[in-house]
Amino acid sequence: MEKNQDYQQALKRYQETEKKIHAMHYASSLFFWDSVTGAPKSGVEARSMAVEVISGLNHTFLINPQVDEDLAILELHADELTDTQRVQIREARKNYNKIAKIPIGEYKKYNALITRSEIAWEQCKEDSDFPAFQPYLQEIIDTLRRFSDYRGYRDHPYNPYLDDYEEGMDVKQLDVFFDALRKRIVPLLHRIREKGKVVDSGFFQRKFPLPDQETLSVDMLKWMGFDLSRGWFKESVHPFTIGIDMDDVRLTTHYYEKDFLSGFSSTVHEGGHAIYEQNIDPALRGTNLATGTSNGIHESQSRIYENNFLRSQPFCDWIYPEVAKRFSDPFKNVTSAMFYRAMNKVEPSLIRVDADELTYSLHIMLRYEIEQGLIDGSIRVCDLPEVWNAKMESYLGIKPPNDAMGVLQDVHWSAGLFGYFPSYALGNAYAAQIERALRREIDVDGCLGRGDFTPLTGWLSQKIHHFGTLKNPMEIMVEVTGEPLNPQYYCDYLEKKYTRIYDL
Ligand SMILES: [Zn+2]
Repeated sequence: MEKNQDYQQALKRYQETEKKIHAMHYASSLFFWDSVTGAPKSGVEARSMAVEVISGLNHTFLINPQVDEDLAILELHADELTDTQRVQIREARKNYNKIAKIPIGEYKKYNALITRSEIAWEQCKEDSDFPAFQPYLQEIIDTLRRFSDYRGYRDHPYNPYLDDYEEGMDVKQLDVFFDALRKRIVPLLHRIREKGKVVDSGFFQRKFPLPDQETLSVDMLKWMGFDLSRGWFKESVHPFTIGIDMDDVRLTTHYYEKDFLSGFSSTVHEGGHAIYEQNIDPALRGTNLATGTSNGIHESQSRIYENNFLRSQPFCDWIYPEVAKRFSDPFKNVTSAMFYRAMNKVEPSLIRVDADELTYSLHIMLRYEIEQGLIDGSIRVCDLPEVWNAKMESYLGIKPPNDAMGVLQDVHWSAGLFGYFPSYALGNAYAAQIERALRREIDVDGCLGRGDFTPLTGWLSQKIHHFGTLKNPMEIMVEVTGEPLNPQYYCDYLEKKYTRIYDL
């Protein structure tokens, strides 16, 4: 009897804790949204002070002995919890251990290091000066290696960081995954380059009035099935999506007058993320399960709209007359076939964020190999520019002229975000495998050819979005597609698509 009371009280206390954490998350999300969508720059100091307090509170709410004790009691009574509560407690324990096992002094020191390092990176990138950034990166890696020991890991010190973004993912599985990509995408790219077929995409760089781009983006979001009455769509320098609640999902894009594709594809990409967040089961509101299950699965939902749907022949054929009607000057003498080919032009680029659909995952493969080497000590920080450039040349056939366009291009490492990159490539591969399952039940080409996303968005919502974090990535993949991640489907998809476009 007494034990049962303990458990009821622990559950009540834990639920209160979760409410507080949710409120802090809500507040931080609004701070962030506000700061990148138009808050005055002059307020940055006051905002930073408030952000620091809020993030400190978040830590206080989660990392205290009472929470540890409550979770321990609830773990003992797992049989009496509902399915949802059990996953909630598992998630909470994971988040707790991630921080609580690290000595508080070291944790604070690390956060201060990250703040300094991000500022330093910006300057070093501008000056293209890797040696100046090297000590920061060295300290971050030394710290992360120590943190792996505190947290405990199996097989490889990189594994805890992979698991942070993709539950259950580890070096063993990712080595197999990237091996498949290396064996099939690198030769495919070589064949395309040898063929030398020229695809004209110059018309995307003509003049596209910004208000018309915005109208098209809003219409596109509606066609995709995003409910604008339960969200907010604005502009920011770097496009992003933030799911504050399933009934308050915010996303941004960025328009360039002389780059049609950049803004339009960003809208569709973020729209995919936003539709995921918007269709999570309202029963999960306010819990730690009310968000997408992992970075990789999230990315699969943005990529499936951006690449598998938007860049498909049937959809390009459907949307081209609509686009050409709105932007008649830039698309003079352009046919629907030219539009489709330009949407899928392959051109190895030095910069990851500018990469096309085929070469994107090669940029990620390079980063994965380097992260693994840095964490296990087989790659030295001082050798990084050399290693980076050699891999760029071997996979993409191009060499950066300086470190700003090479090893210094991404913000991630300066922010301590190790283990994050692989989710981009996983997203691409998940998307291809999910699309294959979708095709078994729905006439995908028929829907895209009519511009009708309702059956597609409906299927994805019912099979994936609805569950939030209730199912982990592996469970989603097995239940939706019938098997765990299998990179061959992604390679098949790319080979089929590019063999046709480039007449290989
Ligand atoms: Zn994304």
